[in-house]
Amino acid sequence: MKHCDKCGKKAVTFVRYSGMHLCKMHLNDFFERRVKKELRRQCNLKKNEVLAIAVSGGKDSVVAMHVLNEILGNRKGLELQSITVDEGIEGYRPKSIDIAEKNCSALGIEQHITSFKDIIGYTMDEIAKFPIETTPCSYCGVFRRKCLNLKAKELGATLLATGLNLDDTAQSILMNFMRGDIAKLARLGPHDKVQEGLVPRIQPLRLIPEKESYLFAILNGIEFYDGECPYSERALRGKYRDIINNLESDTPGTRHAILQSNDSIADAIVETFPPAKLIKCIECEEPTLNIVCKSCRMVKDLERI
Ligand code: SF4
Repeated sequence: MKHCDKCGKKAVTFVRYSGMHLCKMHLNDFFERRVKKELRRQCNLKKNEVLAIAVSGGKDSVVAMHVLNEILGNRKGLELQSITVDEGIEGYRPKSIDIAEKNCSALGIEQHITSFKDIIGYTMDEIAKFPIETTPCSYCGVFRRKCLNLKAKELGATLLATGLNLDDTAQSILMNFMRGDIAKLARLGPHDKVQEGLVPRIQPLRLIPEKESYLFAILNGIEFYDGECPYSERALRGKYRDIINNLESDTPGTRHAILQSNDSIADAIVETFPPAKLIKCIECEEPTLNIVCKSCRMVKDLERI
């Protein structure tokens, strides 16, 4: 049996990239310290703010909500609200919405549901039936961002927290580098500059590896939905996940190194590709770079197929 390097109690995990054995209490402590550090770095929470949390019911978003509630739940003047997007994926999303709802009730956080059908006009299942050339995920990501932003604004939220973890972030950085899409890399959150009409996003789990988020949920009895979206195997992201997992297995700390490399050149990238001024989409009035936003263009394209 291995012992915690901090207190000598029974260790529940070995953190390879730092070489530490940790017990449950010290893993929780290590976890929360990194979330607090990211919160301090990413935002300056003031009184009378509404912090909306995007909660799908999957482990990362549910864990993010629990940790944010633990850290900020008793802060005077700060209100936590949860937003769940129903993309309309039969056999998958209804179960995760139920679990998100259970977690919200347990924490006393109100759950607000918004759906693709109501906002976009189509469910994801309907979209996947169109003979589209890209993956269903390319549509899903754009439509989800729109649904979240609209609902966050409706709630008067000043910040929107997502459950993006270290693995997700490292994958996004690598994907943009390998595609040569540095302009998109410059737009990766979290953002310093507030853009009118866009609720700024924060990523409290940005330093937390996916496996630690999973372990945190299991050790703390947090219920989450572990099902797999029927469209996920077609996601290009899966290839980058495999590449990074293999690199991390050979060289622990690779994900952190990718993040640190990106962060150390982030200012230079933003200077080269500064955020463009956003205008209102003439169709839906959401902020956009073009006259018609990407979401409205995608819906028009679907209708032309
Ligand atoms: Fe949407 Fe793709 Fe995620 Fe499924 S795997 S929920 S289609 S982004």
